[in-house]
Amino acid sequence: MHDLCYAELAFDGYQPTSLLEIPGGKEVGVEFHTLSKTYNMAGWRVGFVVGNSQVIQGLRTLKTNLDYGIFAALQRAAETALSLPDHYLEEVQQRYSTRRDFLIREFAALGWSVTKPQATMYLWVPCPPDTTSTDFALSVLQETGVVVTPGNAFGPGGEGYIRVSLIADCDRLGEAMTRIRQAGFRYAPAATAIV
Ligand SMILES: *Cc1c(COP(=O)(O)O)cnc(C)c1O
Repeated sequence: MHDLCYAELAFDGYQPTSLLEIPGGKEVGVEFHTLSKTYNMAGWRVGFVVGNSQVIQGLRTLKTNLDYGIFAALQRAAETALSLPDHYLEEVQQRYSTRRDFLIREFAALGWSVTKPQATMYLWVPCPPDTTSTDFALSVLQETGVVVTPGNAFGPGGEGYIRVSLIADCDRLGEAMTRIRQAGFRYAPAATAIV
């Protein structure tokens, strides 16, 4: 099962790989897509699944026993969203990559080196040495009121990082970074920075 929720939220010409374009992919699995991110429809519960027909038939049987189709008006809205011209996607990609680049520059000014994500609406920012994800996220929250997500919330591989969301505009992200700067957060401890 391939979770391809960022199929369209990719930047700089990068195209995330679909399971269906891999030879044999359709024979072994299915791919899930969501409208939550690309079309700002988080919470509307609209998505779709494509791929192996047997698996989809099984999911269909399961779903008809678990729940119903969503409210028709939301399905119509989803139809409209999926029919939007390509320039809609380009605008969304532009918006998120502008915020991504802005925030990476802001973090760089405080000593952080943050990897540019090729897709997603998040940045993964390393925690300063000798802090854990939870401690760092908590102290940012307590000292600045800015909410970031501790990376370990997504599994052990996320330890040592915080996840920063790009859903606010650059003004608001700038305000968050001003508070983080004013609270004295830096990537390297001052002593190391001088050496
Ligand atoms: C947002 C997201 C989803 C799906 O979101 P829904 O709102 O439940 O459709 C799936 N995987 C990842 C990694 C996501 O970020």
